[in-house]
Amino acid sequence: MRIGFGYDVHRFAENRELWLGGIKIPHHKGLDGHSDADVLIHAVCDALLGAAALGDIGHHFPDTDPDLIGIDSKILLTKTRDLLTASGYKIENIDSTIAAQAPKIASYIPDMRSILSELLGIGMDQVSVKATTTEKLGFEGREEGISAYAVVLLA
Ligand SMILES: [Zn+2]
Repeated sequence: MRIGFGYDVHRFAENRELWLGGIKIPHHKGLDGHSDADVLIHAVCDALLGAAALGDIGHHFPDTDPDLIGIDSKILLTKTRDLLTASGYKIENIDSTIAAQAPKIASYIPDMRSILSELLGIGMDQVSVKATTTEKLGFEGREEGISAYAVVLLA
């Protein structure tokens, strides 16, 4: 058994779509980044890579790579899954938390779990996604950005 932890932050920007957990969420601003800035998927990728001691998402998918501009983070997750499979690992479970003051995330969580489990080839009962506000404290609370945390267990 190997445990992994991932953390990611993206700032809000105007004229960007908001992608979280593989889902486009209606909001008046989105997260900025080289890719689609799906902060939850990035944290999950980092946790998976960390558990296997395979470096981090920036190492495998550098933000200097022009081919990755605007890339769907679901593709990065699929590539991360393939790296783990090639190293002989299988995912036992994933737990994750999104910290966002706005928008409200709860109603999107079932779809996020469904998409993540499908991409990773595991059951929905192996993928947990939670959401919290930060009680208006910090950068998430001021709606300057969103952070995400993930832990995974590999076998
Ligand atoms: Zn990121």
